[in-house]
This record gives sequence, structure tokens and C-alpha cells, in this order.
Amino acid sequence: MRIVLGGVRGSSPQSHPDFLRFGGATSCVLVESGSGARIVLDAGTGLNNLLKPLAVPDACLPVLMLFTHYHLDHLIGLPPFAPLYDPAWNVVFAAPIREGITVEAALKRLVGEPFWPALFRASQRFEVLPETADKAPFPYGPFRVRWCAVHHRNGCHAYRIDAPENGESMAFVTDLEWGASNGKERADLLRLCGEPRPVDVLIMEGHGETAQFAGWGHSLWKETVEVAKKAGVRQLVITHHAPDDDDRALLRREQEVQETMPNACLGHEGMQIDWNRGSPIAITVRPV
Ligand SMILES: [Zn+2]
Ligand SMILES: [Zn+2]
Repeated sequence: MRIVLGGVRGSSPQSHPDFLRFGGATSCVLVESGSGARIVLDAGTGLNNLLKPLAVPDACLPVLMLFTHYHLDHLIGLPPFAPLYDPAWNVVFAAPIREGITVEAALKRLVGEPFWPALFRASQRFEVLPETADKAPFPYGPFRVRWCAVHHRNGCHAYRIDAPENGESMAFVTDLEWGASNGKERADLLRLCGEPRPVDVLIMEGHGETAQFAGWGHSLWKETVEVAKKAGVRQLVITHHAPDDDDRALLRREQEVQETMPNACLGHEGMQIDWNRGSPIAITVRPV
């Protein structure tokens, strides 16, 4: 399995030079199998950074785009995403119904007037995922996808992707307030990340250091480490960095994080995470 982080910033993009070491693009993650199956999680401005690795249209297997929720930092890269308007591309947009809104209704609200001058192609496929995938994971090529609802304003889902043939797995957990989550929400997330086996790689938000923004729907990095340890994951990558946290602040935090949990790091824009069944997890930071 290979993961590429297209964007790691939360809430709003940043372009000031003080933010470029970790990156200023917002949430977007690519998960690839060795055979070329591709899942994109969220469509923040980091989607633009993934055009190159996505640039080999595969007529057999569409690119699957999954959405955690529809806050703009997770969506604003979508309207200018060229494959939307190119019939050579085969993309499927999927998500469970969230607060009564389908993925098709949510995305068409943004990609269209008065917010955007172009529309989806009439043939564009949207897939409504069932409320739960506990008993029947969603199949996509070599992958099996599960999800659960997490505590966030306007709703949000965490996703887990398994490659059962290789025994590899990852989870993407962003935009949740662990401190305000109830017992069921906590148990569901720990089950998603920890069963049937702890995921190899957990990419999870750790928006800040203090409870200054309690009630805004985000977790502190110490809570993120707590979740990773409880679930028993092999590697934690903390993402969705607050828009005010510049490189100096994030370097300092990364050191603290690794003192608390050695197999944890902060996500960088362009970070690539590669591993095969049972092999060490290789993490490299380079431009996408
Ligand atoms: Zn967000
Ligand atoms: Zn959000």
C-alpha cells in the first residue's frame, strides 16, 4: 500500500513561506495499491498536488473519491479538478448520507452556479454508501472500505481501507472532537482503527495544543496520540494542522509528539508512506 499526502492543513490554506515546510494545502490523501487501484480521501486544495500521481486514467477501475464531510477545507479543491470535465477520466464520488444529504446533492451544490461556472458531466457517477459497513465492507478493486461516524459539527465519517490479500491497512480520521465524543463514538472509532487488526497507518487530525477551540469539532494532538495508542496502530501521522501553526511551531510539536510516541510524526504535504505486508513502513518527504 502507498499513501501520498496531498494536503495536511486544516480550516484554510496557507501560502506564506513560514508554512511551506509542512505545507499550506488543505486535506487530501491518495491511497494506492500495487496494482494501481486509487482511492482519494477528501478534496481540499491538496487535490491539485495529486494530479501527477493520478494522471494515468484507468478505464477498468475508476478513481474512487471518498468524502469525510463537506466543510470547505475538505472540498475546495474539487471545482477546479480537471478530471471532472474530461470524459477520458473515470471517477466515482462516494460517501454515506450525512445529516440527510447525499454526496451528489452536496457536491452539486458547490460545483455549479453561483459558486462555480461549470457543472458535473451528465454521466458523472455518485455512489451513496450504506450507513454502516461493519458487516459488508465496500469493495473497490483489491481494497475493502469501512467507515464510522465521528463527533464533528454537521457530521463526519472516518474511513478504514484494508487490502485483505496483503494484510495491509490504513485509516483516515479527520475532523473529530475526541474530547466531546460520547462512549459509542469512541468505541466505534477504536473498533474501526483496531479491528480485526490495528491498522498499519493511522492518519488522524491533531488540530492543536490547547483547548482554546473546544466545541469547534477538533482534537488536541495529545488526544490523537491517545487514540493511536489505544488502537495499537503501527504508525501515526498527525494532520489537519491549524492555519496559525507555522513551521517553527510544528517542528517543536513534532519533537514533543515523538517523545510521547516514537512511531508518530506530523504529516507534511507531499509525504509518501510505503509498505508491503509486514515490512517496515517507509516515510519520505518530497514534493509530489
Ligand atoms: Zn477540516
Ligand atoms: Zn470540518
